[in-house]
Amino acid sequence: MAYHSDLENLDEDGYTQLYFNSQGITRKTVVLEKGVPEVPSSSCPPNWIIHEKSCYLFRTSLESWKSSKIQCSQLNSNLLKIDSPKELEFIIKQVSSQPNNSFWIGLSRTQPERPWLWEDGSTFSSNLFQIRSTATQENPSSNCVWIHLSIIYDQLCNVSSYSICEKQLLK
Ligand code: MG
Repeated sequence: MAYHSDLENLDEDGYTQLYFNSQGITRKTVVLEKGVPEVPSSSCPPNWIIHEKSCYLFRTSLESWKSSKIQCSQLNSNLLKIDSPKELEFIIKQVSSQPNNSFWIGLSRTQPERPWLWEDGSTFSSNLFQIRSTATQENPSSNCVWIHLSIIYDQLCNVSSYSICEKQLLK
């Protein structure tokens, strides 16, 4: 599995990322070029991995769940949604090469009492996998989900982690 730490700098489907450095402060500005609509593709962008009907990006920058979600959407994708045992198997295989890292996926809840929801608003089914709880007395509300090796855990949303973006290919 290839990791490209410079991936965030690439021009990507209508976005141009410009870097300015003034007085020691680096600012990243994302400019959306008008008139470049996102066209569903039948192939994956460079650095994305194709599997079945989706492209996957294993992002190796450390960010909160929400920031990771925004980064995926800026790449015209969403945080990973695991739909099938086959997809789960693929993802586990990929992340197993990164035993020291966890990856945010597109599963979250607003409060511990509320249901787990995927980014498309669909509810999570525990038939596919279990979410292992990391809740403690000090940290009772872990409302975001990451995968580490073959295990999927809830976690505090503001913890910094790698993440997985998914975009569907043209059917
Ligand atoms: Mg999926």
